[in-house]
Amino acid sequence: MSRAKSKKPNLATLAIHGARDAHRPGDPVVEPLVQSINHIQALGTGEGLKYTRYGNTPNAERLQRRLALLEGAEASLVLSSGMGATACALLALLRPGDHLLSSMYIYGGTHRLFLEEFASMGIEVTLVDPFEPRSFRKRIKKETRAIFIESPVNPTCRVLDLRPISYLTKSEGLALVVDSTFASPVNFRPIEHGADVVIHSATKYLNGHHDVLAGVVAGSQPYIDEVLQKEMLWGQTPDPFALWLLERGLKTVDVRVQRANESAMAIATWAEGRKEIKKVHYPGLASHPDHQIAQEILDGFGGMLAIELVGGGKAAERFLRRLRLVTHAPSLGGVDTLVSEPRYTSHAKMTSAERARIGIPDGFLRLSVGLENVDDLIADLEQALK
Ligand SMILES: *Cc1c(COP(=O)(O)O)cnc(C)c1O
Repeated sequence: MSRAKSKKPNLATLAIHGARDAHRPGDPVVEPLVQSINHIQALGTGEGLKYTRYGNTPNAERLQRRLALLEGAEASLVLSSGMGATACALLALLRPGDHLLSSMYIYGGTHRLFLEEFASMGIEVTLVDPFEPRSFRKRIKKETRAIFIESPVNPTCRVLDLRPISYLTKSEGLALVVDSTFASPVNFRPIEHGADVVIHSATKYLNGHHDVLAGVVAGSQPYIDEVLQKEMLWGQTPDPFALWLLERGLKTVDVRVQRANESAMAIATWAEGRKEIKKVHYPGLASHPDHQIAQEILDGFGGMLAIELVGGGKAAERFLRRLRLVTHAPSLGGVDTLVSEPRYTSHAKMTSAERARIGIPDGFLRLSVGLENVDDLIADLEQALK
């Protein structure tokens, strides 16, 4: 009770301790890994059955409470991947015949899930340009159940203003679902801005060490109970060891994301002054189209940025070959600084002209800024430009 009276701890503290009860002598400081998939059951009752796939093992429950606190949600569920989280989150909201409105700027796997899998299940999905005024409102039908968005957007780092969208979903009785992977709860907590459901690929910032695949869904308790049914039946529950590693990674999320924010800002500022770089995409720069909104709604501009090299695809190839420290690899949000070319990863299915039309010309490089010393990173980028 004394805890309830005191102010809620800050995010960095919650990430380490969660809502931990009073310490007792002899307790381990690091919460133990309980790898057992089953647990001894009470006689004469079906209550309290514990099984890894039910998402109720000790490692799962502890982490789920902690992640809910970080997002300001009633409850959360950890799933076996970001895609598993997105699939189960939406299957808990949509039935055949229902309609989903989605931003057109979404993760490639999510795009295919919506247009291939959901379509074949009789769930209609309309892709919408979220930067066109009233674009969602104009496409609402009587079958529409939810709006799905991702922000900041991969790879241009555009930032969506949640306020008008959540005003719309509240007044129309729709669920607002936000993939907040790029921001992490350190930089943005969508529920504070009117979202109903938050999704993360925990593979990225929440774990942050390039060694765990996991996803998170956060929302109200009754909704999370529905997602749990999907998780159990579609078999999307992670193994306790992945959960234990994720808990370990999560403890440092605040300091990692703060450092990535600072280093990305320094790299973006440096890049803007280079003649070999045509354009820099970073919401922390005044030149970014969403700088104003980002300043209003984000607590940090993030560790993701993109650069466009003068000289296009050929220049990008040369640049990548010369890098020594910055690693050419997909994924993001970890301790290692990574660079990737959307034309060979997330946007490989489009033609060069189609990509150019949505602001991703050849020579466009996405950077996920890690935790190396920023001067070392800039020195590496600089020598590769020459
Ligand atoms: C990586 C990613 C996903 C998918 O997550 P996995 O953990 O790879 O399944 C979903 N959304 C965004 C924004 C991502 O970056």
